Amino acid sequence: MKINIIGAGLGGLTFGAMAARDGHRVTIYDKNSRPGGVVALLEHDGYKFEQGPLLIGDMLEGEPIYEFLASLGIHLDTVRADRDIIMPDYDMITPEEYKGPYWRRDRLKELFPEEARGIDRYYKFYDDVMRLRFIAGENQTLINKIRLALAFLKIKKYAGMNADELTRHFFKSEKICTLYTGIWADFCADPAEAQGLGVVFTNFETAFDKRIPLDKNGKKYYPGYCYIQGGCQKIPESLADYITSHGGKIVYNTVVDKVIVENGKVKGTRLQNGEVDSCDIVVGCGAGRDFFYDTVGQEHLNDEYREILDTFRPMEAVFMLHLGVDFDPMQHLRSALVYCYGMYDLHAATKKLRSGEYHEGNDGYLIFVPSDHAPEFAPEGKHCVTIYTVAPDTLKDGDWESKKQEYAEKLIHLAEKQLPGLSEHITTMKIMTARDYSEYTHMKKSSFGGVVPIWNQKNPTHKTPVEGLWFVGQQSENTGGLGNVIMGAKSAYEKAFPTK
Ligand SMILES: Cc1cc2nc3c(=O)[nH]c(=O)nc-3n(C[C@H](O)[C@H](O)[C@H](O)COP(=O)(O)OP(=O)(O)OC[C@H]3O[C@@H](n4cnc5c(N)ncnc54)[C@H](O)[C@@H]3O)c2cc1C
Repeated sequence: MKINIIGAGLGGLTFGAMAARDGHRVTIYDKNSRPGGVVALLEHDGYKFEQGPLLIGDMLEGEPIYEFLASLGIHLDTVRADRDIIMPDYDMITPEEYKGPYWRRDRLKELFPEEARGIDRYYKFYDDVMRLRFIAGENQTLINKIRLALAFLKIKKYAGMNADELTRHFFKSEKICTLYTGIWADFCADPAEAQGLGVVFTNFETAFDKRIPLDKNGKKYYPGYCYIQGGCQKIPESLADYITSHGGKIVYNTVVDKVIVENGKVKGTRLQNGEVDSCDIVVGCGAGRDFFYDTVGQEHLNDEYREILDTFRPMEAVFMLHLGVDFDPMQHLRSALVYCYGMYDLHAATKKLRSGEYHEGNDGYLIFVPSDHAPEFAPEGKHCVTIYTVAPDTLKDGDWESKKQEYAEKLIHLAEKQLPGLSEHITTMKIMTARDYSEYTHMKKSSFGGVVPIWNQKNPTHKTPVEGLWFVGQQSENTGGLGNVIMGAKSAYEKAFPTK
């Protein structure tokens, strides 16, 4: 079959690689000059920066993305990594000397002795969920199905709680609740909107100490996190090479402005220059509303699909600073990725973000040092630092272009708490605002990451009401993220071409 794919991000490339593997005629169009979408490295003044993903899950041997890429013969070098957390008045920084898989539990009990019982109960629950997760991944023999049911019984009473209720069930202090739900600020979600079990899935202890063994009783038990040697861009580059070496074509610097639909069925794509490319299948990605309303046309959708498009909530944008520096930031940090929170009230922070009010870094920011795992990203003797915050796509007061310098200075000033003297060591700076991202990703409203993980929210589905039209990428996946995008596009392909 002839398959036209719009977008060479990880969603489009994954679908394209599988289609090329199976002998379909694949053409991918992308408005940028390189594969990867937000995963492509940003090059600036002799430095390279990760534009998108930082710490990657599911990418170690035995984990889903690793195994998927390996099935295509793609093997990338990874290095295990972790992240630190700084709360407004305490921190969770990985201990220099390894203190075992439960070091965060023990540290919390030292900091909040009055909460010791709740902390122990949370970690018992954590272990129960991890066990459930492990059994769910085993072959579903009759015995394992029974084990799974028994494991579920142990956590059943928590299954109906949202993340806010769940953390409040274990902890009295908001200071501890926010340690476990803070990541939702990154997803632009209020914990009361998210499913409670997600607390464990966004707080695997292995994310907070790379030395924690991933095996138990000789079997891979815990998920791990890593960086990719040479940068995340190695994933799209490898997929793009795979596609072209299997007869596929990737056309860069080219925008598709129309999906041609006749009698409820796709017929092809039309480029901005008017050129039409007929095909049997079209795969779209990017912003759900832009794609279906502008590129496809809402007259081709049904009420149910339009309802999803009108109601689902994509994440907001990011405000990102990429800095070249002439000092080693790692002299001040334990981990190359640090989440710094400036508040405990995630409900208020989410409300502010959605109303267009930018917190200017006061609610929180991330510091990332990509040159720690990839020294080649910076010229000899120099280093790369990225600082970013979630931010509204559209500011209530002012616009990004006129405010960006002021906001950048504020963020650098805040980050000096972790990186003393930072402002004196900056050799170059690239500011990325919501406008840069919307231009780059071809979205009217910039949305980083994917869809806000609101419990029971329906996202645009892979299969669409138009015959032969499929939708992949961050806005078809709950929480988005590199792993979900790849595995989601894989699943879309398997639905489009089921094996007999
Ligand atoms: C700042 C940031 C931090 C992130 N951090 C993490 C993280 O730590 N961990 C993690 O797992 N994930 C993270 N992510 C998310 C992850 O990187 C993305 O969800 C994923 O890479 C998105 O892939 P995609 O294929 O959906 O889209 P994109 O990467 O947006 O690619 C889509 C491509 O299609 C092109 N395109 C769209 N429409 C058209 C058209 N009509 N014509 C031509 N070209 C078109 C776009 O220009 C773009 O190049 C982060 C993302 C960002 C932005």
